[in-house]
Amino acid sequence: MLEGEKADAVLYNGVFFTPGNVSLAGCLAVRSGRIVYIGSEAGSRSFTGKNTAFIDCGGNSVLPGFFDGHCHAFMGGRLMNSCLLTSGQTKSDYFRLIREYTDEHGEKESILGFGWCHMPFESIGPSRKDLDRLVPDRPAIFLSVDYHSAWVNSKALEIAGINRNTSDPTGGRIESEPGSDEPHGCLREMLTIRMVTMKLPQPGKEQWKNALRTYMKRAAAGGITSLFDAGILNSSQEPGFCAAMEMDKAGELTVRMRLSQLCTPDAGVKQVPELVAARKKYQSENVHLSVAKVFMDGTIEGHTGFLLKPYEDRKGYRGKPVWELENFKETALELRKQGFQIHVHSISDGATRNTLDGLEYAGGKELRHTLAHLELVDPSDIKRFAELGLVASIQPSRYYMDSDYYQETVPMLAKKRANERYLLGDFKKAGVNIAFGSDWPWGTVSSSMDPFKAIGTAVIRSRMKNDSIDEYELMEEVDNPYEYNEHIDLKSAIEYHTYGGAYQNFLEDVTGTIEVGKKADLIVLNEDVFSKRDKSPKDTEVVMTIFNGRVIYSR
Ligand SMILES: [Zn+2]
Repeated sequence: MLEGEKADAVLYNGVFFTPGNVSLAGCLAVRSGRIVYIGSEAGSRSFTGKNTAFIDCGGNSVLPGFFDGHCHAFMGGRLMNSCLLTSGQTKSDYFRLIREYTDEHGEKESILGFGWCHMPFESIGPSRKDLDRLVPDRPAIFLSVDYHSAWVNSKALEIAGINRNTSDPTGGRIESEPGSDEPHGCLREMLTIRMVTMKLPQPGKEQWKNALRTYMKRAAAGGITSLFDAGILNSSQEPGFCAAMEMDKAGELTVRMRLSQLCTPDAGVKQVPELVAARKKYQSENVHLSVAKVFMDGTIEGHTGFLLKPYEDRKGYRGKPVWELENFKETALELRKQGFQIHVHSISDGATRNTLDGLEYAGGKELRHTLAHLELVDPSDIKRFAELGLVASIQPSRYYMDSDYYQETVPMLAKKRANERYLLGDFKKAGVNIAFGSDWPWGTVSSSMDPFKAIGTAVIRSRMKNDSIDEYELMEEVDNPYEYNEHIDLKSAIEYHTYGGAYQNFLEDVTGTIEVGKKADLIVLNEDVFSKRDKSPKDTEVVMTIFNGRVIYSR
């Protein structure tokens, strides 16, 4: 072998997780960002030259880099640089955090924040009057931890032109004061939230670059080397796409990114040519804008999830679908004709039923249309995922029942339905393509994107406490023990967080498995995770992340 054909790096003393979920002990060689050899140490010697670097894996597992199949890297990175409420739990915590932030940031024209929970507030959400006392002089908007609600002050309502006469946008709601039409200060769902955020000063390219840098630092530490971005939903999208592409060209990206554009019901079929035009502009080696993102409903906690049967606490009310079925069908058909993969936010069983009907009508099995979240699915619909070649994008870190279960979910759905949420084993048994994702930064108070939290929850079906899984906590807390049949095995969980996302995003020939010829996107762990007796990633950590053959994180 010529010196120029020698490996840039050899990983030795590793246990490599290879296709078919087979663990191979030995060495792996990398050249020009690709895997060129996997096998015995003796066989690796012909690849080593005078410039080859050696990495000792310490007898530990080496996995493909994680693929986050549904996250919000842009928005999350931006929100992490904003007024964070995630450390608070009560109203007074939130008030204090907001006051501290606004005192420090007198220069900001408007205040953006993130991370309040529904629990401390009444069902109509937080009040503008509280926020007016804290931020009287400039627009302020605080997104809830699930992102489906926003708490705004009077200034924000004013710039958005929202008043007692404003009607609710499709699928959204402007909460009003009890017994009046006056806005109370809480906006529900994307299209309502956008009425405010689109009127605020829009972040430019440099702000988005900083947001991505914030994201990438966390992602590298978590072992994430690829992602699907489920949308820049609350501001104009193109400066973000531009930022990602420029960073890619400058060699600054440490993730492969597949991006999406929001597709809304009001614009329906008419918006498709615009989506096509933008798609042409934003393609580079590691950045591909190729997906249309659609919201089919909201959340169950916000009563905006669209159910097949009514909510228990609102008589006869099933929630409203964001899209009328006919409009969705025709738009999906047009998107399919233009070669768009459609990625659908679908929380509740009614939304999923409509989505399946629409995608069946539109066709396009080869496009791998994806349904994300799937909190409540009618079991009879699961086989349709397999029949239609769809991908189930699942966020397992939510797949346990916590204190919200009694306080929020049981009153809304009653126990039987509350217990039927979060099917996973049934999707696996039906042979559905599954891809794991985090939905970061939404959904969890800790805003975790850590794939091992997701994998651990999928395997144990219990909550992670203090960064470890407490297997028995749930049994004590909920009298219906976790749905043991819905848990899955560790190898499958890892596969869904690596190959699953690569398949969903048409990158399975590039990344997602450890194979000769694929990109060297790899993570080294602190242990041989498969040899553990309890087969759970309880204390598993990433000690090194390699992207495209380059070490981007190590500790
Ligand atoms: Zn999302």
